[in-house]
Amino acid sequence: MEKIALFPGSFDPITRGHESIVKRALPLFDKIIVAIGVNDQKKSFFPLQQRLGWINKVFRDFPEVEVITYEGLTVDLCKKLNAMYILRGLRTSADFEFERSIGQMNKKMLPGVETVFFLTTPEYTALNSYIVRDIIRNGGDASPFIPEGIDLSAFNGQ
Ligand code: ADP
Repeated sequence: MEKIALFPGSFDPITRGHESIVKRALPLFDKIIVAIGVNDQKKSFFPLQQRLGWINKVFRDFPEVEVITYEGLTVDLCKKLNAMYILRGLRTSADFEFERSIGQMNKKMLPGVETVFFLTTPEYTALNSYIVRDIIRNGGDASPFIPEGIDLSAFNGQ
């Protein structure tokens, strides 16, 4: 059976931290589906289509990486796509506490699913999408934190 992992998140925007997790996980799975969660209650900074386009660009040379958007429960998406692994990154102990409860609840709802955690590499521990958004909002240069080839200044603000 194909080993499919889902990497859910808001990717608002994708950072080098996200990119590194996916690339490091590639040898473990046949396919990795990066799934951008759409949440009506949470307004994103960057438009969905833009986030989707950037992630597609980052992984254009990796046919085993797919990018989709979704609404609803991650476990429902796992069932639909036959993805039995959920990929997550751990930066800090705060991430761990947060991820532990989500992972345990997901396991309760879908016993066949396993959450696979990757420890962040030290250089990306302090990196998160919030900081990148803050840099952009204040006219700074976020390029060291986002994947190469992604130009956030092209963000059209729509
Ligand atoms: P963020 O927490 O930055 O808003 P997301 O909601 O898009 O990011 O998170 C998706 C997944 O990526 C989560 O498992 C999160 O822990 C992981 N992640 C985010 N940033 C990093 C990073 N710098 N290093 C490792 N994992 C990360």
